[in-house]
Amino acid sequence: MNNIPMKLITLDTGAEVTIPIRFEYAKCNGCSADDLIWATTKNGKSMPIRYDTIKGVWISHFSDCPKANGFRKSAWLLLINKW
Ligand SMILES: [Zn+2]
Repeated sequence: MNNIPMKLITLDTGAEVTIPIRFEYAKCNGCSADDLIWATTKNGKSMPIRYDTIKGVWISHFSDCPKANGFRKSAWLLLINKW
């Protein structure tokens, strides 16, 4: 995971996260979203984000996901392992 070029982006909340310049899309196991990108927060935590093309902003999928309330961590761990 060393020497991967990263890009700093700002979410709609104003939080800054980094994503790899060359990324792969991940799929949410909670909803049908398949355009998620794993970002890294300033605290070093992984967070799925997606670009809202209507609003033109990046948003955390934790707040965006319609299934977020029923979230099971195992579902997200699956994604992390895939990534
Ligand atoms: Zn989702």
